[in-house]
Amino acid sequence: MAEQRLEINQLGEFGLIDRINSNVELSNKSSLFGIGDDAAVIDGGEESILLCTDMLTEGVHFDLSYTPLQHLGYKAVVVNISDIAAMNGRPEQIVVSLGLSNRFSVEAIDTLYEGINAACKNYNVDLVGGDITSSASGLVISIAAIGKVKKDKVVYRSGAKENDIVCVTGDLGGAYLGLQILERDKQVFLTNPDMKPQLENFEYMVGRQLKPEARTDIVYELAELGIKPTSMIDISDGLASELLHISINSGVGIKIFEDKIPIDTKVYETAAIELKIDPVTCALNGGEDYELLFTINQTDFEKIKNHQDIHFIGHVHDNAKQNLLITKQGTPIPLTAQGWNHFKKD
Ligand code: ADP
Ligand code: MG
Repeated sequence: MAEQRLEINQLGEFGLIDRINSNVELSNKSSLFGIGDDAAVIDGGEESILLCTDMLTEGVHFDLSYTPLQHLGYKAVVVNISDIAAMNGRPEQIVVSLGLSNRFSVEAIDTLYEGINAACKNYNVDLVGGDITSSASGLVISIAAIGKVKKDKVVYRSGAKENDIVCVTGDLGGAYLGLQILERDKQVFLTNPDMKPQLENFEYMVGRQLKPEARTDIVYELAELGIKPTSMIDISDGLASELLHISINSGVGIKIFEDKIPIDTKVYETAAIELKIDPVTCALNGGEDYELLFTINQTDFEKIKNHQDIHFIGHVHDNAKQNLLITKQGTPIPLTAQGWNHFKKD
């Protein structure tokens, strides 16, 4: 009988993580929470310690023909800080591991670290170590971050309750559009190298893609207002995918309204007019906006109802099997995750 072979794309990224997790047992008392949230939670007494890691690889996460190394360094730090923020924590240290090919000069590494150091400065994080190795397949940047949060203030993906309000920060879909614009320009350049990039009208979206920010500001503001979200996750794979994570982990259903999804006018126009794609699809299924998605108890609504940068897009109900988008016409559509799944074939 032929040996069975299961392809990674049959499981998908999340299926693979579940499979790994099913063979993991936490044996140290200090390991409070392991696989399955934005960061692991480790006992640190009064303050719990948060730990997460994210890897960016050339050709998969970034294309050096249009990604300045400085921006890349900045983004590699930000995506980790975003995961610490998603646990309601504040980032404190990072370690940076690099896989380098001899294509890179020392000056290029200096530029990469200009970005890494700028992010550390902006978010008040210390770079405390790392590793360097050679890579045969392009640049690899892997960063791990440590953060802290008071023991009783950790926010998981699993705490959403019936009647909670679903909140999202900033605006969505921009980073995905930025990527489409950069890719389009690259193709134009490849066929006609004399063409200059036409990015003037798309600065906002290209900026969202190349130089995202983590919403630590919102974490601090919520704390000041005395609000602890009931659940939280950062939006790295698209709103739909993250909503489903909260639904599955909390054992609740979520209903959101299409006309409440925050989309910037520039994003809306570029999607609809320039690229002829549905802006709402960009928000739902695009990725890399690094905004925060969280739920709050209704009693906290008054405190943030006028906040300029927090949007209320729906509510939580008790039927875990029903995650719905209510369209502008009032039609309910089941939410499905089509976010970035690196191993899924198109
Ligand atoms: P995020 O998008 O917030 O970075 P991921 O989807 O990458 O989260 O990961 C989800 C969970 O799975 C996290 O708890 C992460 O630590 C864990 N995880 C991801 N890859 C692995 C792996 N190779 N081995 C063990 N745990 C993993
Ligand atoms: Mg995350």
